[in-house]
Amino acid sequence: MSKLAHVGTSIFTVMSQLANEYGAINLSQGFPNFTVDERLTEILSKQAKENVHQYAPMAGFSPLLEKIAILTRQSYNRIVDPKAEVLVTAGATEGIFAAVQALVAAGKEVVILDPSYDCYETPILLCNAKPVHVSLHDDFTPNWEAINAAVNHNTRMLIINNPHNPTGKTWTAADFDRLEALAEANPHLIILSDEVYEYITFEKAHLSIHQRPKFWERSISVSSFGKSFHITGWKIGYVIAPEPLMREIKKVHQFLVFSVNSVAQATLSEYLDVVDLSALGKFYQQKRDFFRALMKNCPLELLPCEGTYFQVASYAGISEESDLDFSKRLLIDYGVATIPISAFYPDGKDLKLIRFCFAKDDSTLIEATKRLEKLR
Ligand code: PMP
Ligand code: GLN
Repeated sequence: MSKLAHVGTSIFTVMSQLANEYGAINLSQGFPNFTVDERLTEILSKQAKENVHQYAPMAGFSPLLEKIAILTRQSYNRIVDPKAEVLVTAGATEGIFAAVQALVAAGKEVVILDPSYDCYETPILLCNAKPVHVSLHDDFTPNWEAINAAVNHNTRMLIINNPHNPTGKTWTAADFDRLEALAEANPHLIILSDEVYEYITFEKAHLSIHQRPKFWERSISVSSFGKSFHITGWKIGYVIAPEPLMREIKKVHQFLVFSVNSVAQATLSEYLDVVDLSALGKFYQQKRDFFRALMKNCPLELLPCEGTYFQVASYAGISEESDLDFSKRLLIDYGVATIPISAFYPDGKDLKLIRFCFAKDDSTLIEATKRLEKLR
């Protein structure tokens, strides 16, 4: 008997495979196609020649834990204890899985805001807990009335994602005020904040859970070096949580992976000394603006994009097809792969929206948009 009979292959894998099969330009799965910073590859080859090839400590290589604590202080003015409150994980995915497994007991509820990224629900189900899906407003801002109504005495966790995949929406200070009030009224509630796109925001600065001390003792953040350093294939990220929660998360991490790739950890701890993450938002803002300008002659309506490297577009003006059919037609007939937004809703809600990833070199974006101009 399958424990996860309803779970299929992720849409990101499906669309990337179809893109390969049809030779389409892949603007579906979220990963950059350009090379990484040369300083990173230089440090990597230097580190690979050192004796760093054996198991790293379970929670992470201590220089890296310390650099993460320094980065957290620089970015958010929050002081965390690198030994007790930081955990290096095999990507944000493992961090989320470990946190949910460690902290959500059978029968409890976890609130998820839709459209939602695909790695939240399965860990909840594997705890024999209940995912409670709450839709964001039509403009993809949090619906606080609905969130408040969904949280009850049995709710263990609220998962938030800011900046938001797939919509590129970011939270306001007023959203955090509402979150603070919710946390205050529900002392049993843990907030799991997926901030993997924290360094990819544009006009507005990123607001982090780390800037809200009122509920630090119940908040957990998840970050991804994959997103911040264009190295999604390295699968390395980290979790920050208060010590009593982190102690439990480490117990799961210990038996899920034990520890994370040692060469990657040694490399990143050195790279964090030289890299300037404050430049990343500007870098992707240029990409966003370039992509949006190129899309001017394409008959799709672009939604606002405040952060992440995703652009959502509506095709409601030109077709009534389902978003899955539309993105398959785009891929097969026009040679551009995208992600249908229905994949981010448990009931497959179809808003006639698709997602483009613009983390691509200029020539790829130019060629893709040229193809899209012919779209009817
Ligand atoms: N959360 C969100 C919102 C994502 O888009 C992704 C994909 N990068 C992840 C988590 C997982 O990140 P990682 O690749 O570091 O596991
Ligand atoms: N986060 C990536 C996206 O949204 C996908 C990562 C994956 O394929 N697991 O496209």
